[in-house]
Amino acid sequence: MKTDIKIAQNTELKPIADIAERLNLESEDWEPYGHTKAKLSDALLNKLHDKPDGKVILVTSINPTPAGEGKSTVTVGLGQALHRIDKKAIIALREPSLGPVMGMKGGAAGGGFSQVLPMEDINLHFTGDLHAITTANNALSAMIDNHIYRGNTLNIDLRRIEWKRVMDINDRALRQIVVGLGGPLRGVPREDGFNITVASEIMAILCLATSLEDLKARIADIVIGYTYNEKPVTVKDLKVEGALTLLLKDAMKPNLVQTTENTPAIIHGGPFANIAHGCNSLMATKTAAKLSDYVVTEAGFGADLGAEKFLDIKSRAGKVDTDAVVIVATVRALKMHGGAGRDDLKSENMEALKSGMGNLEKHIETIEMFGLPFVVAINQFPTDTKAETDFIKTWCESKNIDVALTDVWANGGKGGTELAEKVVEKADASEGHLNYVYDLNDSLESKIRKIAQAVYGADDIELSQTAKKQLAFYEQQGWGKLPVCMAKTQYSLSDDPALLGRPKHFTVTIRELRPSIGAGFIVVLTGNMMTMPGLPEKPAALNMDVDQDGKVIGLF
Ligand code: ADP
Repeated sequence: MKTDIKIAQNTELKPIADIAERLNLESEDWEPYGHTKAKLSDALLNKLHDKPDGKVILVTSINPTPAGEGKSTVTVGLGQALHRIDKKAIIALREPSLGPVMGMKGGAAGGGFSQVLPMEDINLHFTGDLHAITTANNALSAMIDNHIYRGNTLNIDLRRIEWKRVMDINDRALRQIVVGLGGPLRGVPREDGFNITVASEIMAILCLATSLEDLKARIADIVIGYTYNEKPVTVKDLKVEGALTLLLKDAMKPNLVQTTENTPAIIHGGPFANIAHGCNSLMATKTAAKLSDYVVTEAGFGADLGAEKFLDIKSRAGKVDTDAVVIVATVRALKMHGGAGRDDLKSENMEALKSGMGNLEKHIETIEMFGLPFVVAINQFPTDTKAETDFIKTWCESKNIDVALTDVWANGGKGGTELAEKVVEKADASEGHLNYVYDLNDSLESKIRKIAQAVYGADDIELSQTAKKQLAFYEQQGWGKLPVCMAKTQYSLSDDPALLGRPKHFTVTIRELRPSIGAGFIVVLTGNMMTMPGLPEKPAALNMDVDQDGKVIGLF
């Protein structure tokens, strides 16, 4: 099998105008960014307001393992498969972050014959959205430091400024820094630090805002820190919400591209899936739903984090009805959940597979609890044996669970038609009814407990002293009615990354909370979350190059 980049470079792309035409867009609805990318206009969503929404299909997965589950690949493949069975579909995906691309994750544009293209652009600078978010974020930092330098009339406590600078590269050396050194003309020294751009609250806001007006209002609500009297200081207090929105006006527009089979795809926004909600923008999902009969979209990490936040945060904020869910599982990951080592995944191991099924079982129960119809997709890897994939199929069928073996990575849309047929049947029959895990009127503590018990299968939660104080303070500030955004390890259903499979009888420790008031949620940290990743010993960047004709080399 060729590498992703080889497949991508051998695929003939259609001019983006053809893709726009296929979606019946008029010239005012989109603007080209080169030959194969475009931005959709802000006005488009409003213009399509009265059109009925297409069905929304959410792709989620079991708890990821370092083996990689292939959610994006299945999302792209399913979109392509829907076209093959003559359905009008659009794929909505997140924009990759350069940090992990240069580090270790690899691309985030699907894989094999199910990719979004041009993958070189999408994985690198694309249409500049992440640069705009970086600039807006850092403009706010500069405004904060200037305010302090000019006399600090807002009385901002220099020790309690929560707003950090960002950049879109993994750089552990910048995690904790001191700014303003060098004497009176260079500012007021204080501790600061860098996060990766996708961890900026501005990214989360951009992904939940439904218009420029909404974007501005949310930016105004960002809490940047606290005064010496412990009062929250917001962007509105600094009066820069207008300028920051201005920097984001083009980044707010969803990006239109195509897949390896020329299926339309909208790629827009990509917030972290731990300290934020981990889904592409609401603008992208809603626009895609207006432009097609089916939208296939994904949420980061496993169903315990990604799907829960997609449903409890994003769908609730944007009034998006989810009509069907695809739960991606792989033989490799289930074997890891059943105790197989990372280096032993290529050989058949029925015992490990059987022991790992509990992980899939829990995610199935969670989606059932949400009341949503679903299909299990076995994302087939070349090393899977027939006995292994048959085992998962039989296990599902014995429980009356719809399951489809998909090989969209090796075969593109053709490898996903069984999945597509099953998903269409479910989505068409769905009325979009959803049971949220918690009510917005529940207290913050009760929301956290409900997620831990119902979604993770925990006995209970345990609050640190800091978390207890913060809960009381946040309720007092009037933030108690917001949804909660759980930041937990993606590897386990519990808060301990080493507990694979389906752990039981555990307690989730709540360490700390953080207000993301502009985004409209309270972040709940269950462990030490890394918001500025580091580079591995052999970064993926070591394989990358460009030849004298500008051809990209080594991008996976
Ligand atoms: P996720 O969205 O779950 O992080 P991706 O779809 O990005 O996963 O896939 C992760 C990596 O695994 C990619 O490099 C992709 O090419 C590869 N991959 C995905 N599915 C398969 C498969 N069925 N066979 C082989 N490689 C695959």
